[in-house]
Amino acid sequence: MTPTTPEQALAELYAGNRRFVTGVPRHPNQDAGHRAAVADGQHPFAVIVGCSDSRLAAEIIFDRGLGDVFVVRTAGHTVGPEVLGSVEYAVTVLGVPLVVVLGHDSCGAVQAAREAVATGTSPAGHLGAVVEAVVPSLRRAARQGIEDVDGIVDIHIAQTVEALLARSAVLADLVAVGRCGVVGMSYRLSAGEVRTVAEVPAGTPTTTVV
Ligand SMILES: [Zn+2]
Repeated sequence: MTPTTPEQALAELYAGNRRFVTGVPRHPNQDAGHRAAVADGQHPFAVIVGCSDSRLAAEIIFDRGLGDVFVVRTAGHTVGPEVLGSVEYAVTVLGVPLVVVLGHDSCGAVQAAREAVATGTSPAGHLGAVVEAVVPSLRRAARQGIEDVDGIVDIHIAQTVEALLARSAVLADLVAVGRCGVVGMSYRLSAGEVRTVAEVPAGTPTTTVV
């Protein structure tokens, strides 16, 4: 049955990740019959705002299939207007109850931002925008005395959760009225395991700053 609450959706993702980690994936909803069944309409139960890293394929690591998760991916899960618009589409038009920010250890975007700050340079072209979006997380980590990349990654995931809620009044309102929850997860590349590093449960009053 498709999850309809944030709690059910989160449990479903964790169950799928456990199957993936332990090497017993079921590959649900990937057959021709299901493909035909969902052709007329989608009812995904989670939005995943993830890093574009090629090793972070959402449907694989959560052992899901067609029509299950609405995925938006950018390098370093940075959230510009198109990402916010995509999330808002999923939570309003599709009625998705859970938004997940998915980051991972050894994230290249975080490492690039760290290098840029250390050397006082910014990458050429649009890559500079990715780096700039990660820099506030670096500053926050520095204030907390955290210097290792994976520690910074966790802070960047939490920062992304906050950024979604601060910049999307639509999402913040749905969270405040209890229709949607937001969770930040960190993924371990070698173990294949996710863990929750930030959580804004449905029903949490939120403040939109922009
Ligand atoms: Zn990454």
